Amino acid sequence: MIRINENYNQLKASYLFLEIANKVAQFQSENTDADIIRLGIGDVTKTLPPACISAFHNGVEELSSESTFKGYGPYNGYAFLREKIAQEDFQKRGADIDADEIFISDGSKCDTGNFQELFANDITIAIPDPVYPVYLDTNIMAGRAGDSKNGRYKNIVYLDGTMENGFIPQLPSKPVDLIYLCFPNNPTGAVITKSQLKEWVGFAKEQKALILFDAAYEAFIRDETLPHSIFEIEGAKEVAVEFRSFSKTAGFTGTRCAYTIVPKECVAYNESGSKQLLHPLWQRRQSTKFNGVSYPVQKAAEAVYSSEGKVQIKQRIDDYLLNARIICKTMDDLKLNYVGGKNSPYIWIHGNGRDSWDFFDMLLKKAQIVCTPGKGFGQCGEGYIRISAFNSRENVQSAMERMKKIL
Ligand code: PLP
Repeated sequence: MIRINENYNQLKASYLFLEIANKVAQFQSENTDADIIRLGIGDVTKTLPPACISAFHNGVEELSSESTFKGYGPYNGYAFLREKIAQEDFQKRGADIDADEIFISDGSKCDTGNFQELFANDITIAIPDPVYPVYLDTNIMAGRAGDSKNGRYKNIVYLDGTMENGFIPQLPSKPVDLIYLCFPNNPTGAVITKSQLKEWVGFAKEQKALILFDAAYEAFIRDETLPHSIFEIEGAKEVAVEFRSFSKTAGFTGTRCAYTIVPKECVAYNESGSKQLLHPLWQRRQSTKFNGVSYPVQKAAEAVYSSEGKVQIKQRIDDYLLNARIICKTMDDLKLNYVGGKNSPYIWIHGNGRDSWDFFDMLLKKAQIVCTPGKGFGQCGEGYIRISAFNSRENVQSAMERMKKIL
């Protein structure tokens, strides 16, 4: 008899964005001429930068001739891309990361979801609330979360984000082994300062814990005092792994390219308490279960670091950030409390007493705007919605006009 992994039955019934899509589809079928503006899912709306398109074409062209054809590539990604990343994203910011410590992949969703495979099943995990759902769901699938009661899993240490702490969670008061952090944050748009991040690194060292640092929105940081990488913090290389993605940086959500940094000195512990390096473990995992990102996609990603690529990317992100400013200004005018929107494409808005699905329904029905209900990101998200700046200027402006009319 073929039996299922019972841990899957511990997952909440439906994936947040599916639930939203169903509600929107139902509304659209009942209101066929409604002009819906989607400020919900965090997908980009702008094209790949021309520099990436051109490199992508050239990469495809190389596959048409035997002398330049590429079959399977290196598991960790081509050196031409890893070297650019190491120089441009890390060494130039004073973070001592080598090309050998970078693993190219087809997405941070898979990397953040897969990395937990390297660890024992009885470790204690600290997960922020609200949170990007992948961290929690993949640990539930692995059987680490335990039973759920009142919407919370027994074995998870939740790191609560609130308006009071600015959605920067406090250090846990009990011992933990694996800590997920994401800054600039999805869903709240909150950012962490160097001194706050230093505290987390110090805590991880003290606890012999590991931080999985998701920096998928790093390119949105404009405040130069903020860290772009956890490796800008001294001593982080022993206790942190970082996830980066070209998805939001350069519009690769459909093209798929990301990377994970596993420093050579980063450790976990075996049963006898001895240190074991994570780099060879992740290398082993990837070479067994992953066969690399296609050559033309890696060429397209390399073009992100060309001089034209840098200009085109900055223009795109500046444009999204201007949308975010327009949204923030509207929230100021409406006197709604929010965080984010400054160094992030997300604005996390307090509903002034409305619960988050009510706020979602009201915006859909009265203004034909789709947002994301905060509750979908965890218990601490109740009472909030997330609005994303990934849209055209025109759509953002008309959505904000509509919100002003109904609120
Ligand atoms: N990490 C965070 C925090 C995200 O919000 C997302 C996508 O929305 C990802 C990772 C996934 O990125 P990718 O497209 O590289 O899989």
